[in-house]
Amino acid sequence: MSSNYEYVKEEATRLLARLKVLPPPVNLASICEKLDIGLARSPLGSRAAVLMNSPQMNSVLIMVNSDHRLCRQRFSIAHELGHYMLNHSCMAFSGGDGFMQFPEEEREANIFAAELLMPERYLLHCWAVNKLNTYDVSLIFNVSRQAATIAINHLYFIHDELLNKHRRNYWIATYLMDINI
Ligand SMILES: [Zn+2]
Repeated sequence: MSSNYEYVKEEATRLLARLKVLPPPVNLASICEKLDIGLARSPLGSRAAVLMNSPQMNSVLIMVNSDHRLCRQRFSIAHELGHYMLNHSCMAFSGGDGFMQFPEEEREANIFAAELLMPERYLLHCWAVNKLNTYDVSLIFNVSRQAATIAINHLYFIHDELLNKHRRNYWIATYLMDINI
């Protein structure tokens, strides 16, 4: 993972800490309210969500597709929050979600969303209590099974030591004592 993506994850971590969010599951409505971002649900056809930014009126609104399943709506909202928090250039366009124009920003928004909804330290705790599987992670964090699978695979990619069960007690002792799921 490039340092740029580490920065993206740190932005999500900082936001959770600053707003004193208590995961899991992360309360996205509360986050939007604290950031003074409007949140609305509406049928959006093929679009998952839209971030509407109006600098003139000093207002930001996230519209999410009400036809999608709730867990997918959650990821879409977190994705748009990523665009907002990372000051992406697609913010410059009213209603802009620049999938075609800014693929790198889309990737960053997805990484931000995954970290916001499934913070790494909580995934580590799931591992410690034998709940790092698609079913449990999707329930605990209220995400889709697809999002859970991607997050689990990513965690094993950056923490390959977790695959060595002999180190299990070491990890529990050093990282995970203050977390309750
Ligand atoms: Zn996007």
